[in-house]
Amino acid sequence: MGPLKHVPYYDNIADRSRTPALRFVSRIHRMRMLGTALCALPIASVLLERDAPGWVWTALLFNVLVWPQIAWLLAGRARDPAALEYRNLVLDAAAGGAWIAAIGVGLIPTAVLLSVLAADRFAAGGWRLVARALPALLAAFAVTWVLAGRPFEPETSTRTMVACLPLILGYQLALSAVTWRLGRTIARHNRELERITRTDSASNLPNRRHFDARAAHAVKLFKRSGRQAALLLIDIDNFKATNDRYGHGMGDIVVRRVGEVLRGVAAGDDVPARFGGDEFALLLAPADRERALVVAERVRIGIADLVFEAEPGMRCTVSIGLAETRSAHAALADWIRDVDAALYRAKAAGRDRVEAG
Ligand code: GH3
Ligand code: MG
Repeated sequence: MGPLKHVPYYDNIADRSRTPALRFVSRIHRMRMLGTALCALPIASVLLERDAPGWVWTALLFNVLVWPQIAWLLAGRARDPAALEYRNLVLDAAAGGAWIAAIGVGLIPTAVLLSVLAADRFAAGGWRLVARALPALLAAFAVTWVLAGRPFEPETSTRTMVACLPLILGYQLALSAVTWRLGRTIARHNRELERITRTDSASNLPNRRHFDARAAHAVKLFKRSGRQAALLLIDIDNFKATNDRYGHGMGDIVVRRVGEVLRGVAAGDDVPARFGGDEFALLLAPADRERALVVAERVRIGIADLVFEAEPGMRCTVSIGLAETRSAHAALADWIRDVDAALYRAKAAGRDRVEAG
């Protein structure tokens, strides 16, 4: 599937809210606090060995304690929080480059810092963010390195290596946990979306699209393994007159209540559905004619017995046509044609009844 074409009338007003971007900002804020604190351990270890001046220690404390809060405040107040957070992530990379220079390019801490910085940027913004962050990192490294007198001490002490461990073990695990949680949320949203695309919101029943798929599958199963299924088409009697007399709003309530009755009757693998307009379907699987007739009677009576609070005098009846799967049905359309013919006979015979085809 290619990229979705942008159609303005599908724009969701909720998408214009800042909530998702602020959630992203909060997530990055937590990761930045953890990440800078863990990165500071090996950096501090090398600074101790190099006898760094006080102002360098102040800079490190600023980076760990103050910068994450400033970044968070800036992004939270920005018109476009996500865009500003990307800029903050680029600044993080620049700070990382400066620290790598300050520790004289100690081999192990440099490798760990680079891997964490790259993984983090990639997780937040993919290759594009990595590509934006890399020049900033290199530039800050070059400037700091030259200003610091080009220190180059690649050997790493055991203490510094130990100081790298929390970063290697803890931070990568935290990043993986965040990624896993995001993946799970997306999977859940996909399931919800899938369900919504298969639901008719007025009746809260599966829609025609879902019904067609399940009914076509029932035809296939019958051909393959002889598993009998039955199909009911249920049409509200004189619904146009109901709308005219009680108003369209009451008509909508009828549609919803009919949906409730169908959901109550459906069991196991049965599929109740809104077929379209004032027509509903109930796929019974497995079912022989006997079960289909019993269920159809329950539906008919269940709907005839409905009482509507807003209009106590109003009654609603339905006509039902049904047929079970037959070997003569080459496709779903053939089956539906049989059921439709039965429904037509139920209407012609005076409505409020069940006819089997
Ligand atoms: P019959 O007994 O022959 O089925 O008569 P009918 O009036 O029910 O049949 P017809 O097909 O002429 O009219 C169906 C009506 O159902 C027309 C349409 O306005 C109404 N209708 C369809 N869907 C909805 C809906 O979601 N809400 C409301 N209120 N009315 C609906
Ligand atoms: Mg009707």
